[in-house]
Amino acid sequence: MFEKEKVRLNLSGKIDESYDIYFGIDVFLDIADSLRKKMPASRYAIITDSNVEKLHANRFKKILDGAKIVSDIFVLPAGEENKSAENCLKVIGQMARKGYARDSAVIALGGGLVGDMAGFIASIYGRGIPFVQIPTTLLAQTDSAVGGKTGVDTKEGKNLIGTFCQPTEVFVDVATLRTLAQNELINGIAEVIKHGMIRDYVFFKYLEKNISKLLKRDENVLLEISRRNCELKGEVVELDAHEKGLRQILNYGHTIGHAIEKIGKYKIPHGQCVAIGMAVEGIIASKITKFPLKQLEEQNRLIVAAGLPLKIPLGMSNEEILKQTLIDKKARNGKARYALPLSIGKMEDFGGVYSTEVDSKIVEAAIDACR
Ligand code: NAD
Repeated sequence: MFEKEKVRLNLSGKIDESYDIYFGIDVFLDIADSLRKKMPASRYAIITDSNVEKLHANRFKKILDGAKIVSDIFVLPAGEENKSAENCLKVIGQMARKGYARDSAVIALGGGLVGDMAGFIASIYGRGIPFVQIPTTLLAQTDSAVGGKTGVDTKEGKNLIGTFCQPTEVFVDVATLRTLAQNELINGIAEVIKHGMIRDYVFFKYLEKNISKLLKRDENVLLEISRRNCELKGEVVELDAHEKGLRQILNYGHTIGHAIEKIGKYKIPHGQCVAIGMAVEGIIASKITKFPLKQLEEQNRLIVAAGLPLKIPLGMSNEEILKQTLIDKKARNGKARYALPLSIGKMEDFGGVYSTEVDSKIVEAAIDACR
């Protein structure tokens, strides 16, 4: 009935959102140079957190000053409990009062929290201004800085508000990891192991061989690991930017991992939750996809060598964990879904989707085996 009144906007042309990821050691000077060429702007908002400000942001701003690039530092309070829309709005207000406009740009300098929040701010400020990522944690350098997911938490859920918005460039400077606490480094290794598990057996073996060098922050190993991880994640994002299918493989270990994280009121580090999640979901995979037990042992040995746990924290009941898995973002029709390996480096394709429902008895048996 509306046919005659129809006006159509043809927006089917693809927007090119491709970008480069650079890797180096002590490369703040080169980043300044690249910014001027690749993301020219009237002024740059360096968005960081209250820890990274003193350790790296002040130093980076001095380099920009020296290169006559106009910038200001905006500081978010560190800590996941501060990953809120309110804190983004505060920075947006500060930027507006300093005269930031649509010809300005954002530099996200910090860990995954800063990357997600600064990316979110850039994606909505003046309906969107360009931004680059300079990740400073292992997790951010190997995972969160790539892929264009931005967001903040609300009391109802983690990353409940957010956008898909790709950066203009990503600069990984592994020298920034020199100041990172050891527990934060270990935390990041969980996602690194996951990348090997889901996509690359050769890389998994490289990790096995180099895990002690990684723990000692050998910078050549850090460079190789961040480069290979960004490449792996990049391949997945290229094939499925909006998580309609393949990108679900990145959730290996996360259905159970997120449930544990939620029950533990976000006090247990994410990396530890993902490690336990991979231990449980590896057992589930051994039943569903016939993931070989020998490879499950290989996975668990590497998790332990990295200093990460395999056991469900004391006091978490099966019922509680199962209940929380239903609230997971992958859940469909009230049923939890799991991304499962077929072998190390290869995830099971369940007919174009990369997660499946699993009988709760199998899940409970796997949880019990990790107590
Ligand atoms: P984080 O950003 O909170 O950093 C952890 C701690 O390390 C903080 O206290 C921070 O101030 C400090 N820090 C950061 N860099 C430092 C450095 N170089 N030296 C010393 N201290 C430093 O945590 P994270 O683990 O990097 O990231 C977790 C966040 O990332 C979560 O909010 C999560 O939702 C998000 N995330 C996003 C994606 C994505 O695809 N967008 C993927 C995974 C995780």
